[in-house]
Amino acid sequence: MQTTAQPETQQTALVSALHQVHAAADRLGLSDKHREMLTSFKTVFQTEFPVEMDDRSIRVFCGYRVLHNNARGPTKGGIRYDPAVTLDEVKALSMWMTWKCAVVGLPFGGAKGGVIVDPRALSTDELQNLTRRYTSEITPIIGPDRDIPAPDMGTNPQVMAWMMDTYSMGLGYTVPAVVTGKPVAVGGSEGRLDATGRGLLYLLQEHLRESGGVSGKSFAVQGFGNVGGVVSRLLRQSGARVEYVSDIATGLSNPQGIDTASLFAHVQAGGSLADWRGEGERIDPAEVLEADVDVLIPAATEGVITADNAPFVRASLIIEGANGPLTPDADAIFMERGIPVIPDILANAGGVTVSYFEWVQARQYLHWSEQQVNEELHRLLLDAYRKVSSRCPIGGDCSMREAAQWIGIERVIEAMDLRGIFP
Ligand code: NAD
Repeated sequence: MQTTAQPETQQTALVSALHQVHAAADRLGLSDKHREMLTSFKTVFQTEFPVEMDDRSIRVFCGYRVLHNNARGPTKGGIRYDPAVTLDEVKALSMWMTWKCAVVGLPFGGAKGGVIVDPRALSTDELQNLTRRYTSEITPIIGPDRDIPAPDMGTNPQVMAWMMDTYSMGLGYTVPAVVTGKPVAVGGSEGRLDATGRGLLYLLQEHLRESGGVSGKSFAVQGFGNVGGVVSRLLRQSGARVEYVSDIATGLSNPQGIDTASLFAHVQAGGSLADWRGEGERIDPAEVLEADVDVLIPAATEGVITADNAPFVRASLIIEGANGPLTPDADAIFMERGIPVIPDILANAGGVTVSYFEWVQARQYLHWSEQQVNEELHRLLLDAYRKVSSRCPIGGDCSMREAAQWIGIERVIEAMDLRGIFP
């Protein structure tokens, strides 16, 4: 397995992210100065580091941390463990984090990190060794006032606990605000595990309010992890039928609705869709994107809906659980077909929003109830949704993605201009 840096190729995610900024810059009439500042990266950090494996052999892994823009505050963004991580992908994800924090009004800039590794192929001890060494490598650029990591694909609350401990032991005292997404027992927030999925549900309920919300509607969900699994569970609880789900290897369908609560419990206990014994027919995971349902939720990874498959999508609404699942070409096709897309930087912002609440609680040594967390999450997301919708009403000549990006970009520019350039 490849674990060291691969030659740089222009990856779809970065091409998409840059394309979006330039399109926004054209439409907003931005100056060259602003365009250049928005498309550059404050810090790009790459490290190749050794990890001792269980058999005492040493393997070298490659990790990245990219801070895109910190005009609005310390940078914030997840850490991804995945064999397909590249520097270009991490850059794109860091840029999307900048717009996401700005569109929800959080006092953060954007960042992202990643390690080229398949975490499922490591033992718990190996995963801990890798996490602790990667954390000490990035320690000079992270911190509660500087850059605050969180979970993403392939990482979880246990990984965040190890990161927090490693950073803290280097300083000699506990610093809970250095990462978010920690277990509640070590300073995590109530509601953080469900936050991204819950945010998707809140936005869907609002978007579909005039037709009765999610109840009675059919759904297809690609990816059954922290985002896809949680939203599938919450949708079923809210009276929706989740007819199709997939993970990387297996698709499942059931026209009566999959028992997503049991399936999620099975996956959390270490199972996969392939070895689940509940009701449902096994299908090719690629079919999920083209399922005949009311709403499609791509919640796995970027670049899965392109000009090639967008014409075959049958859902009448798409909400992006993952970051960057649609390419700009696919966006244009959905615009043409009149299929609305609730974009990632708004749709999946529930995770970073509750991460912000966790950071606030950690800094104040306070503990909020789950009800308080969910109420504040609902308030911030709906406020952002209304601002985006009024910037570009349905049937207008722009997409919700463009509107969300314009709002995010304008807020970042306002902060950059007010701060000026030092020296
Ligand atoms: P996860 O590791 O918990 O789960 C990922 C799921 O997607 C798994 O079921 C995996 O099998 C599946 N998958 C991976 N690659 C796939 C592919 N090529 N095709 C089909 N399925 C695939 O990850 P997660 O935390 O749920 O993150 C999923 C997406 O949501 C990512 O784009 C991530 O950046 C984004 N996101 C996550 C959070 C969060 O709080 N975890 C917040 C905002 C956005």
